[in-house]
Amino acid sequence: MSPLDLGSVDTDRLLRDYGQLEGRELLQALVGELPGQLAVTSSFGAESAVLLALAAEVDPALPVIFLDTGELFDETLDYRHQLERLLGLTNVVTVRPTDEEREQAEELWRTDPDLCCELRKVRPLARAVRGYTALVDGRKRAHGFQRGAVPTLQVVSGTVKVSPLAHWGEEQIEAAFIARGLPRHPLVAQGYRSIGCWPCTRPTAPGESPRAGRWAGMAKTECGIHTTLVLGTDGAGI
Ligand code: SF4
Repeated sequence: MSPLDLGSVDTDRLLRDYGQLEGRELLQALVGELPGQLAVTSSFGAESAVLLALAAEVDPALPVIFLDTGELFDETLDYRHQLERLLGLTNVVTVRPTDEEREQAEELWRTDPDLCCELRKVRPLARAVRGYTALVDGRKRAHGFQRGAVPTLQVVSGTVKVSPLAHWGEEQIEAAFIARGLPRHPLVAQGYRSIGCWPCTRPTAPGESPRAGRWAGMAKTECGIHTTLVLGTDGAGI
């Protein structure tokens, strides 16, 4: 069995009834369909405030899973608390690698970033999402690479995967920031447009994809949490 058990959920009907929705409407519908079975995963990165704001508008008590790899920017940790307070989110859960995983991953980003991500991200998240039927993420087609075809709703490897902003472009995201008065991640002002662990993130130049600053200079474009059985096999990641 996959890590998540869909049990009696009629996934064909979910796709048929809600596959054409997006944004808050999609979240609202699925929260109604799958009460207590849906969680949001968030990096509290450059664009995360928009998805989190939509989630808070639907239900501020929705579980929000925040993965603290031990190598995040201090600004991200501060931003998490800022957004949590501002949006009134009451159920943000911080997930961390075990001490053993952190010891094994020490400085591993230099020599084996795939194993580093496995230890710091994939395994801790796999533990955290056990028991949830549907997982919501902030992936967008506009970010390109393996995200270029991500749908708003799909069922992969036993997980209902929900990407309410899959079709949103930069202008729509920007408009949502402005309309809701959302604060920016502090590093955005320094040119960071996709923000993960500090050793593997750099600012991007105008014209580059937002995700060009992740694992720059390497073939790697995803951390693995969406390319493994943790969150499905469609090839993307936080
Ligand atoms: S993004 Fe970099 S530092 Fe973070 S877990 Fe992956 S390889 Fe390690």
